[in-house]
Amino acid sequence: MKQYFTYFVDDNIRFLENLTKNKPESIFDDPYLKAHKELHEKYGLKVQFNLFYETIDKSWNLSKMTDRYKEEFLANKDWIKFGFHSRHELPDYPYINATYDQVWKDYTAIEKAIERFAGKEMITKSLVTHWVVMTKEGVQALIDKGAKMMTCTTGNRLDYPEIRSAFSTEHNFNLAKNKDLPVSKASVCVRATNGLSGMPCLCNYNHLEDKEADEYFGKIKMYKDPETGMIYNRFAGITMNAVRLCDFPSKFENLVKQEYVGILIHEQYFYDDYFAYEPDFAEKVGTACKILLDAGFEHISMEDLIDFQD
Ligand SMILES: [Zn+2]
Repeated sequence: MKQYFTYFVDDNIRFLENLTKNKPESIFDDPYLKAHKELHEKYGLKVQFNLFYETIDKSWNLSKMTDRYKEEFLANKDWIKFGFHSRHELPDYPYINATYDQVWKDYTAIEKAIERFAGKEMITKSLVTHWVVMTKEGVQALIDKGAKMMTCTTGNRLDYPEIRSAFSTEHNFNLAKNKDLPVSKASVCVRATNGLSGMPCLCNYNHLEDKEADEYFGKIKMYKDPETGMIYNRFAGITMNAVRLCDFPSKFENLVKQEYVGILIHEQYFYDDYFAYEPDFAEKVGTACKILLDAGFEHISMEDLIDFQD
């Protein structure tokens, strides 16, 4: 069995703000991009940065991103891609009740910025949206924007009132609001991880029930939603900021048996002013690459996944 792995980083915006404010000579003088370049040189790393439009305190957004590095970004387009993630980090599940127009508008804002500071060809069609969940209207907007693939939630849908207490007031409020909105219906599910029943999650349209979730888990050939045409990326994954480096060997024992693995991390953990700063950010990415390459995996970009579907 030929095996593949991809790498992406969610919740990105700070390195773009830093480039704009610090004006280094090269994009790779920025510590975050430098770390990625070193991993690219050592392991052939290909990265997809999934972007927020605004910083957490809303003091900066992508419309302010400098375009002085456009040529340098473009020169690295074979291993760097940018993707839509969400307008802002908060609230959780930003698109649980999204209208078509909301997703179209948020996508367009990020798309326009990437076109300006890096170039159209650096925008990915293989998406990971913030907290994954999207309405059918939102999925349609993404398809109309040219997206082909996105991640999905999984697990059998549960009767909502039974586990109402498992959710925050905000999530309950959004679920209640959803009933009255002219968008696809939200529900709740329990996502199983490694066969163990996990935390209850919210879900909406881009979702696979247990049977299909299992069938497509860790498979390079993915489920295609017959109604919208969106392909659901169901990678066998590791969220590296949530796993200690010393636990990588046991975590990867199961992953190396899969056909397709996605390794991911979040930008915030790279910075020492973040409450959950991880000084071993780059070491974790490098270790994951080494384990998978040593196990015979081929590293491909998130964008390459689309070519496997026809
Ligand atoms: Zn996110």
